[in-house]
Amino acid sequence: MTDTIVIAELNKGKVHPTTGELVVAAGMMGNSCTVIVPCSDSSVADSISSTSGIDKIIVAKSDIFSSYDASGWCSAIDSISPNGIIITSASPQSKDLAARLAARRKISVVQDVVAIENGNLTSPIYSGKAMQTVSLNGDAVISIRQNVFDSAPQGGSPEVSVMDASGNVTTAVKELISRASERLDVSEANIIISGGRGMGSPENFSHLEKIADTLGAAVGASRAAVDTWDDIPHSMQVGQTGKTVNPNLYIAVGISGAIQHLAGMRSSKYIVAINKDPDAPIFQHADYGIVASWEEALPVLQSSLSAMM
Ligand SMILES: Cc1cc2nc3c(=O)[nH]c(=O)nc-3n(C[C@H](O)[C@H](O)[C@H](O)COP(=O)(O)OP(=O)(O)OC[C@H]3O[C@@H](n4cnc5c(N)ncnc54)[C@H](O)[C@@H]3O)c2cc1C
Repeated sequence: MTDTIVIAELNKGKVHPTTGELVVAAGMMGNSCTVIVPCSDSSVADSISSTSGIDKIIVAKSDIFSSYDASGWCSAIDSISPNGIIITSASPQSKDLAARLAARRKISVVQDVVAIENGNLTSPIYSGKAMQTVSLNGDAVISIRQNVFDSAPQGGSPEVSVMDASGNVTTAVKELISRASERLDVSEANIIISGGRGMGSPENFSHLEKIADTLGAAVGASRAAVDTWDDIPHSMQVGQTGKTVNPNLYIAVGISGAIQHLAGMRSSKYIVAINKDPDAPIFQHADYGIVASWEEALPVLQSSLSAMM
């Protein structure tokens, strides 16, 4: 029987909850499920050691897993992963890893999968304008969008083994110095409030930050906002040339809804748009729309949320 190998999603040295969704996706492929946990400290894997649906956990231990490095991670994981269908998250880092693993093994890669039915995989193409369904006729690497599948429940007792994955690695990143920011990244958030050029100035993003703090959300931006204002970093950009996000709730404020922005957020579970132009294209994709300026709408939203929370 072919194995399905899940590469656990790591975030700040911990197994990210989306790993449970990858296990459910692996179950839909109908094979036995092995989870590889890339880590420098094997206790990291404890958090998934009783997840249901996992047959085997391989704790891949190596210092190189303390910071992401595409080449080192790819060669280390390739050296210990059995053959089979490999499943990763569709985070920017894991999509990179997925493509590299597929190239290394000379097998297909299917990115951003949002549905699995009878072994057929569905994913968005052409910036989300169309969906494609493909079937596999061999091993492949598949990346799965976050928040699409349910998470695996507790109740399993998989076999756990620890392997040294340092063997084949010739280069490794020793330290990663990230830009100091206390804010949640859009790719990690379940709720995102994003601002566009309609916010008028980067200072006005403080209104979005206040709401984000109330909701435990991340703050995102359109490319027009990022390109116009130096104070809005590229890391906040959502869209075709920014980050692809799939939160439960996406609030777009002063964003027109250009196709390139939609490409990064249209599969969000609920979309709320605040825009003063009733004809803004974003309203065609929003579950809830508020036709108003943000100056009118945000204070009302802020006070209602503060009263509720
Ligand atoms: C190759 C390529 C890649 C691209 N990649 C991306 C990408 O990754 N992400 C991305 O976002 N874009 C991307 N773009 C740019 C995209 O085409 C749009 O230009 C951009 O998304 C527009 O951003 P915006 O909606 O913030 O600005 P605008 O189009 O200027 O829209 C501003 C909106 O704010 C509203 N508004 C104005 N004032 C207020 C107010 N006071 N209150 C409420 N609403 C107000 C207006 O009615 C308008 O709808 C890309 C473009 C190209 C060509």
